[in-house]
Amino acid sequence: MGLDRSLPDRAEVVIIGGGVMGASAAFHLAEAGVTDVVLLEADELSCGSTSKSAGGVRLQFSDEINIALALRSMDAFERFGQRPGADIGLHQVGYLFLLTDPDDVTVFEKNTELQNSMGVDSRMLSPDEAGELSPLANVDDVLAASFCGRDGHATPEAVVLGYASAARAREAGRYPPRYASPRRGGRAETRVRGRAPRRRRRRPGPRRAPPR
Ligand SMILES: Cc1cc2nc3c(=O)[nH]c(=O)nc-3n(C[C@H](O)[C@H](O)[C@H](O)COP(=O)(O)OP(=O)(O)OC[C@H]3O[C@@H](n4cnc5c(N)ncnc54)[C@H](O)[C@@H]3O)c2cc1C
Repeated sequence: MGLDRSLPDRAEVVIIGGGVMGASAAFHLAEAGVTDVVLLEADELSCGSTSKSAGGVRLQFSDEINIALALRSMDAFERFGQRPGADIGLHQVGYLFLLTDPDDVTVFEKNTELQNSMGVDSRMLSPDEAGELSPLANVDDVLAASFCGRDGHATPEAVVLGYASAARAREAGRYPPRYASPRRGGRAETRVRGRAPRRRRRRPGPRRAPPR
């Protein structure tokens, strides 16, 4: 997708960053009828951590919030072909966690219970069952495994382009979300309403210890 490099003086909504979060926000705003949206990307859409991830998508998480978010995301990924309408290379081949530490087995048993209580069809497996599911895995020292067949992988860049293209298409003929490249002199800046960005000066002084 070509970038519109002109920067408007003002916009109702300015989204900074064209990774999956920015592109998804642009799409959901467009769908909700918010038309005057500008997405500022310092480089190319999806050039950040989104395109560097492994592309794993899973429901096997250990706390309620992440499980709820994962369920919401998986629903969206599964229906991505219809809404917003793009092939994201989703393959639900399952995630198999092989556990060799007794403490991990206890934790994963608890996690699986929580996942099941929230509607996730994950389950604990014996080492033999894990070996049958994945014949190339060496399960000699495996104590147990957990598996969810709805997990899998997708193409993160395709998710970004799917959302961004749909955001643009929905705005066609009105105020299309623009993807501006605010790179100046080799550094990324963001200008909103024509004001020059405030630069932070580095002051000499003691450095804080990193948080533990
Ligand atoms: C399908 C899918 C599968 C995934 N699978 C995994 C996985 O298996 N494992 C995993 O750990 N994570 C995974 N992730 C998550 C991924 O690793 C990232 O955490 C996530 O995509 C980050 O998205 P983001 O939009 O917050 O950030 P980014 O993708 O980093 O986007 C931020 C963007 O902001 C731009 N930017 C920065 N500063 C400025 C500025 N001042 N002005 C303008 N632009 C700026 C950058 O250039 C960049 O493009 C997955 C994500 C997806 C979509």
